[in-house]
Amino acid sequence: YLQSMPKSETIKLREKHIGAACQMFFRSNPLKIVRGIAQFMYDESGERYLDCINNVAHVGHCHPHVVEAGRNQMSLISTNNRYLHDDMVILAKRLVKTMPEPLSVCFFVNSGSEANDLALRLARIHTKRKDVITLDHAYHGHLTSMIEVSPYKLNLPGGPEKPEWVHVAPVPDVYRGKYTYPMDSKSERELGRMYADEVGKLCRLAQSNGGGVCAFIAESLQSCGGQIIPPESYLKNTYKHVREAGGVCIADEVQVGFGRVGTHMWAFETQHVIPDIVTVGKPMGNGHPVAAVITTPEIAKSFADTGVEYFNTYGGNPVSCAIANAVLDVIEEERLMERAFRVGNHLLNRCEGLKHRHSLVGDVRGRGLFVGVELVTDRETRTPATAEAKHVINRMREEKILISRDGPDSNVLKFKPPMVFGIQDADRLVDTLDRVLAELDGARISKITLEVRVTPIDDASSKDTLRSNSKQALKAI
Ligand code: PMP
Repeated sequence: YLQSMPKSETIKLREKHIGAACQMFFRSNPLKIVRGIAQFMYDESGERYLDCINNVAHVGHCHPHVVEAGRNQMSLISTNNRYLHDDMVILAKRLVKTMPEPLSVCFFVNSGSEANDLALRLARIHTKRKDVITLDHAYHGHLTSMIEVSPYKLNLPGGPEKPEWVHVAPVPDVYRGKYTYPMDSKSERELGRMYADEVGKLCRLAQSNGGGVCAFIAESLQSCGGQIIPPESYLKNTYKHVREAGGVCIADEVQVGFGRVGTHMWAFETQHVIPDIVTVGKPMGNGHPVAAVITTPEIAKSFADTGVEYFNTYGGNPVSCAIANAVLDVIEEERLMERAFRVGNHLLNRCEGLKHRHSLVGDVRGRGLFVGVELVTDRETRTPATAEAKHVINRMREEKILISRDGPDSNVLKFKPPMVFGIQDADRLVDTLDRVLAELDGARISKITLEVRVTPIDDASSKDTLRSNSKQALKAI
């Protein structure tokens, strides 16, 4: 690869001309990635990294079939969707085929944020209401309209103020959330109902305020909030509350869709519900910006009945549609959903094994190639091991494996690799993580042993400290 400039110059220019607020991995020592193949990315010096976090490169970085489809269509025509084009209607037909009835009408857009913004607009027009129920820690996009329903950003000290029409429900997190399992010794189904009842309460609140409920928006498995798998029956009961209050249900499948969960094409199917509006994006173009909203004929008609035509310059352009069709081809031809199931189960089982070997691992959860490993400094109190998680990410990078962390406490290691990820990759990931966690165990044991050694034992409170430190040391061992 011929660089246009040395890495130091790229950093200098970025600092000068790109907004400092723009996110960057490993800011103090950023990576310069120059090409990718399948589940691997390469830096400017040719160093290869195993990519365990890029769920956009769904069928693998630079898949030749996808690249060719884009290149071919680009050389024919790229125009807007006010003209007829076969790729657009074929894509709509194929997407709809993967959805349950009555989800059968598509709108094509360019990003997940745009898809969610349009979903909200459709919901408002259809219900003639404004209030939205969202989940705590949720992220639905960077547009102003989406930041307003994204506690992931609203909760930040410098974040914007939550509008009064937004209602925040607790995340259905059975490990760290409001209701937990097995601490509260409730069945999973019961926990699902309890979390759904929280949404029910907000529906009643919105109704008593006179506004009523417009929409409930949620990822079917919450990725930005820390790889959360909601308890069984959660969405079923939640959708019931929302619909009884006259609202519509929006499923944000921007991260978790297109077969990632292994058993189904869409994550909402794992909860046995049918949303009124589904938004899809990221993996849809394998790196090319294309996204969509899929809804019911009834909701689409409410939109059309306004008489305000919808136009989106790039949404549904022939190049994007050709690329999205090629992505669907690869998912089908390479049976990537089945692969996500097989490799995902292996990854999950191996991560479960880590729980027995390292007290830092508090919880392991996932579905298909969507896996979270939550680190804690104490399993009983479930205290988030935030600093340790940061250390792990950096150490894994040194080992040429890219993972990320998330959750309100930034202590959940996140795996959502391209779907071409294999058993060997999963083994390499877990074996390396095992080693890195062992280093941390070693460091913690030395620290605790030192504390035990230096603690004077002749005053009562120190005896308590000594006892608790010894217990911790034993647990860690
Ligand atoms: N919804 C979810 C769940 C997301 O994770 C994201 C992006 N991280 C978006 C919406 C917004 O998508 P985009 O960045 O393509 O606008």
